[in-house]
Amino acid sequence: NRQIRLAGRPVGDVRPEDWEHVTAPADAPGEGRFAGRTRFISLDPAMRGWLDDRPSYLPPVGLGEVMRAGSVIEVTESNHPDFKPGDHVVGTFGVQEYVVSDGRGAVKVDPSLAPLPTYLGALGMPGMTAYFGLLDVGALREGETVVVSGAAGAVGTLVGQIAKVKGCRVIGIAGGPEKCAMLTEELGFDAAVDYRTEDVRAALRTHAPDGIDVYFDNVGGDILDAALARLAMHARVVVCGAISQYNNETAVQGPSNYLSLLVRRARMEGFVVFDYAPRFREAAKELAGWIAAGRIKVKEHVVRGTVDDFPDTLQMLFRGENVGKLVLELA
Ligand code: NDP
Repeated sequence: NRQIRLAGRPVGDVRPEDWEHVTAPADAPGEGRFAGRTRFISLDPAMRGWLDDRPSYLPPVGLGEVMRAGSVIEVTESNHPDFKPGDHVVGTFGVQEYVVSDGRGAVKVDPSLAPLPTYLGALGMPGMTAYFGLLDVGALREGETVVVSGAAGAVGTLVGQIAKVKGCRVIGIAGGPEKCAMLTEELGFDAAVDYRTEDVRAALRTHAPDGIDVYFDNVGGDILDAALARLAMHARVVVCGAISQYNNETAVQGPSNYLSLLVRRARMEGFVVFDYAPRFREAAKELAGWIAAGRIKVKEHVVRGTVDDFPDTLQMLFRGENVGKLVLELA
């Protein structure tokens, strides 16, 4: 059973030597357990935070432990009444080829209803994040102006498209002309800003002349400051993530424009998607309906390889090399 384990705690960018590649014995599933082989592993920016030894919404991954990751597995052997060989199951099974589980936190999924990677993307954690972050935390209303950063990523592509379904004006911020063209030409965004080459403050003045009602922040840093400078009255700033800060070797950069919240009577609120677990089913049903109706396009970036490709594939997120949901498919 090939596994990727955490070997050291990175400072700044994750280095190859922070991982240990090991081959462990594949245990047989005991009573009340099932075993399966991993098909798709989810790559998530949050993984960077799980490597740091500091309190967060989940405990850090321990040194020597198999790296935590969501994945889809196919059951090969089962002594569990609810899972049988051939079933596909989503869970937090870690970066390894072979999994033994007691079924806690595992959810069966149906590959005839959606491709397997979609259960890690639009119908999985990023989908839930976009849905509840925008509609619940962002309290989006029809006709509003929405700005989303990290717009060409797993969460961002969905935030923008859900906002379009809700009749809003949507501006996406992403890196590079190809990503920006995809947002406006393929996904129906009203405008896109390339933060690598454009002046984001000036672009937001142009595209959101009446101000931003909901800013969905995936990146933090300078882009957050630029958005804060353009809030409409009673705006909502949704703190989903801050990928520009995850590899910092120094303190996280705070927004210098936060007094805009005072002037605009706005609020800024963070959230963790797991808190919405009791409502995931409801959200997945609505998202699946929009996908089936062609109102939401699913963007997935599938890298084929082995678990040994996990460290390199994870870095793609921090280099902006993915479009939509990044997954590693085990060949
Ligand atoms: P993405 O698919 O969006 O991938 C990450 C993207 O971030 C890259 O493609 C890149 O796009 C962009 N990026 C990387 N570095 C920078 C940088 N320095 N400045 C600006 N953009 C950068 O990942 P996800 O959709 O999975 O996650 C998006 C955000 O949502 C993350 O911050 C994540 O932590 C957060 N999240 C939060 C959850 C919650 O419960 N609060 C749950 C799930 C995710 P580009 O080429 O455009 O730079």
